[in-house]
Amino acid sequence: MTTIYDVLVIGAGQAGLAAGYYLRRTELCWAILDAEDGPGAAWRHGWDTLRLFSPAQWSSLPGWSMPPSSAGTPTRDDVLAYFAAYEQRYQLPVERPVRVTAVHRVGEQFRVETDRGDILARAVISATGTWGKPLIPAYPGRELFRGVQLHSAAYRSPNPFRDQVVLLVGGGNSGAQILAEVSQVAEAFWVTLKEPRFLPDDVDGRVLFQRATERFLARQAGQTLEEPAGGLGDIVMMPSVREARARGALESVRPFIRFTEAGVLWPEGHEMRVDAVIWCTGFGYALDHLATLGIVEPDGTVAVQGTRVVREPRLWLLGYGEWTGEASATILGVGRYARSTVAELAVALRSGT
Ligand code: FAD
Repeated sequence: MTTIYDVLVIGAGQAGLAAGYYLRRTELCWAILDAEDGPGAAWRHGWDTLRLFSPAQWSSLPGWSMPPSSAGTPTRDDVLAYFAAYEQRYQLPVERPVRVTAVHRVGEQFRVETDRGDILARAVISATGTWGKPLIPAYPGRELFRGVQLHSAAYRSPNPFRDQVVLLVGGGNSGAQILAEVSQVAEAFWVTLKEPRFLPDDVDGRVLFQRATERFLARQAGQTLEEPAGGLGDIVMMPSVREARARGALESVRPFIRFTEAGVLWPEGHEMRVDAVIWCTGFGYALDHLATLGIVEPDGTVAVQGTRVVREPRLWLLGYGEWTGEASATILGVGRYARSTVAELAVALRSGT
C-alpha cells in the first residue's frame, strides 16, 4: 500500500526544520526528505572558520534557543550540533539521504520522484536553499585559465593557497571573510564590481533582523519603509574582517578584462600571473527539482503569494531569501514564514482550496 503523505518537505536545513516544528503540531501525515548523509544541511559545507554573523540567541529556530557559543558568535560546528540536537529534540521525521529529482503534478496530488523511488503527496514545501546552486559569472577566457578555480561553497581553509597569487572575486560577506584569511598566507587581490559596502562595526545580525522585522511589519501595515543604509547584503564587520581592515588588506580593485592561460589581463594592459581564483559570487536558488512544473522564472525565482506558489497552490517555497519573505534565508528569520506556511497549508488541505 503506497503511503500518500499530506505534506512532503524537501530539505532539512533551517527552513525545513522550522516547517517541521510547526507541522508536528498538526494532525497531518508528513515527512522531510534531505539529500545529505547527516544533519546540518548547507552548514555541513561551510569553511572551517565560518561563524554566524549574529549571537546564538539571535540565530535560533522556533521553540528552542541555540545554546550560547563558547566564544563570540557561533561557529559552523556549533550550528551543526544545534541542528542535529533540534531534529532529535522534536523527533522530526527526516528521511536521508534522499535526493528529490523531480516533482510532477498528478491530478490532485504531486508525484515526488526521488533516487529511492516515487512518493505521493497532497502538498509540498520546498526548502532546498541556495548552497546547492553556486553561481560563477561568465568571464572571457575562463576556460583557457590553467590555474585553480573554486567557488566559495567549496572553500574550506587558506592552507592550500599558501605563498600563491590568489584572486578573490565578489564583494559580499563570503568575499570579505575568505579574503581576511587568505590574505594572511598568500598575495591576495579582491576583485569587486563596485566599492564594497561595510556595515558600521556595531551592526551585527541583531540589527539586521530588527531592520528586517521593521520592514516586515511595515509591509503588513501596507506602508513602505525608508531603507536605512545597509541591508542583509552588506558586509558585517566580523572580528576577522576588522582585523584584515587594520592590516590594510580590504583594498579592492575593479574587474580584469579577461583570463589568459597563466592569469588575467588588467584594463591598463598588463598581464598578471595568477595561481588560483576563488569565486565568492553568491548562489542561485536550488529549484531544479521543480523544473518539471514549469513555474521557475528566467531569473530563477517563482511567482509566489507570500510563500505559496501562484501557479501551483499546493506548493510552498520556504527560506529562499527576500522574495519569499524578509530575512527568510536566515536561521532566525525563517521561523515566522514557516509558521504562516504551515497554517495556510493546513487550512488549504482541510478545506480543499
Ligand atoms: P540549506 O541550508 O541549503 O538546506 C537545504 C537542504 O536541502 C540541504 O540539506 C540540501 O542537501 C537539501 N536539498 C537541496 N536540494 C534537494 C533535493 N533536490 N532533494 C533533497 N534534498 C535537497 N544565515 C544566518 O542566519 N546567519 C548567518 O550568520 C549566516 N551566515 C552565512 C554565511 C555565508 C557565507 C553564507 C553563504 C550563508 C550564510 N547564512 C547565514 C545563510 C544561510 O547559511 C543559508 O541561507 C541557509 O543555509 C539557508 O537554509 P535553508 O534551510 O534554506 O537551506
